[in-house]
Amino acid sequence: MEQQWERVQDLLRGEIGDAAYRNWLQPICVVEAQRDAVCLGVPTRFIRDWVVEHYAQRIRELWAELSGESVDVSFVVQPVRRAASGLLEPDPAASAEVISLPAVAEAPAEDRDSMNAPLDKRFTFDTFVVGKPNEFAWAAARRVAESDIPPFNPLFLYSGVGLGKTHLMHAIAWHIRERDPGRTVGYLSAEKFMYRFIRALRYHDMMNFKEQLRSLDVLMIDDVQFISDKDSTQEEFFHTFNALMDQGKQIIISADKSPTDLQGIEERLKSRLGCGLVADIHPTSYELRLGILESKVEQIKSEQSRPDAAEVLIPPKVLEFLAHKITTNVRELEGALRRVVAHAQLIGRDITLESTQEVLHDLLRQRERHLTIDAIQKEVAQHFNIKIADMSSPRRARAVARPRQVAMYLAKQLTARSLPEIGRKFGGRDHTTVMHAVKKVEELMQQDTDFAEEVDLLRRMLEN
Ligand code: ADP
Ligand code: MG
Repeated sequence: MEQQWERVQDLLRGEIGDAAYRNWLQPICVVEAQRDAVCLGVPTRFIRDWVVEHYAQRIRELWAELSGESVDVSFVVQPVRRAASGLLEPDPAASAEVISLPAVAEAPAEDRDSMNAPLDKRFTFDTFVVGKPNEFAWAAARRVAESDIPPFNPLFLYSGVGLGKTHLMHAIAWHIRERDPGRTVGYLSAEKFMYRFIRALRYHDMMNFKEQLRSLDVLMIDDVQFISDKDSTQEEFFHTFNALMDQGKQIIISADKSPTDLQGIEERLKSRLGCGLVADIHPTSYELRLGILESKVEQIKSEQSRPDAAEVLIPPKVLEFLAHKITTNVRELEGALRRVVAHAQLIGRDITLESTQEVLHDLLRQRERHLTIDAIQKEVAQHFNIKIADMSSPRRARAVARPRQVAMYLAKQLTARSLPEIGRKFGGRDHTTVMHAVKKVEELMQQDTDFAEEVDLLRRMLEN
């Protein structure tokens, strides 16, 4: 299967070009394989979403061509590492998250499945730790979960990744199901919503799709930013949304930005999205992180309640260390904790500050790594297929000027260098040139979502 994947990769590389190949396909590896099913590991959610949307179909086709039978391809978010052999392999320490694509060939029958993506059992109100940064969103979620008629509509939750939006949505769904099993709750990722919609269009099954939506009492759509720029889906979403609201049904939406800041979404949809209650979850505070770690320790203990299991003992110092060092998001925090525990149990040693630092050295080093302008220039040049020398050359052709502006923009965003310092690094340019580049890139990102995604991708790659 690994070889098969390499052949699929090669073919796709020819189709999509080297730069796109490097960004999207190279970091993928085979996690699990059977004769008619393969599971591919993708390093981040962002890449997964992109690959699913742009390449999954083609991957499946090529795979089927090569193997002569249809293959079910699914994707998991699974950080990879380079094995001793030089090959990429899944990093077992990181936890995985699966998304599978329903096979397209057999559409209409399967289209009738419910509007429910599976809910994560662990995502309940009981396991959600409340602190200053998330108490508003939490209170709003509770209100919605406990009310028979919508207290505000829609409830719009937004935050950066890994801060608890999906957790809160699942918690609402669990709560409603438990309290009032007669109410039907639909939970879908925006991606899945789009997929279902497009399929309904293709198979002339729109009636059924709308019927299903109308039969819900509560509709939740997660990560709605992925609907941006799909005009017909947006249109449908807008109508569905209005119809459901008119019928007094509760709608809950999540996104990575506030309604007004969402890009590529029509104005009237934005204003409709923002007309209920908008609640954001702020980045975690040290206290909240510590609280979450303590609760996760309890969770891990209860998961391992085999009588023969050694008690998990984690010194408070270690939790404090983690809460200090891992500040990006809760998912990483939990991942780090689980890694530390798994490691200690595997080699049968106590957890100490030293062992923690050792186990997490790669993660911690990344955080502390200093990003240089040279590194940014190199990555950006590679991405756009231009020479590094062109970053400092006087050439003004668009093909080199635009990447150069992107590099300047990223240098401003990702390093602590001043505008004159950045200018010097780009062939002794003036600080006003850098300022202009930053403005220009921001402007373009506003106007063009593809461009914005591209720049965002570069940023994530550099930050990693
Ligand atoms: P988002 O949807 O905002 O990207 P998730 O809801 O998927 O984030 O949360 C990522 C992980 O962090 C999940 O495992 C979730 O249970 C956990 N998590 C986030 N916030 C909290 C919290 N306040 N208390 C407990 N766990 C949390
Ligand atoms: Mg989420």
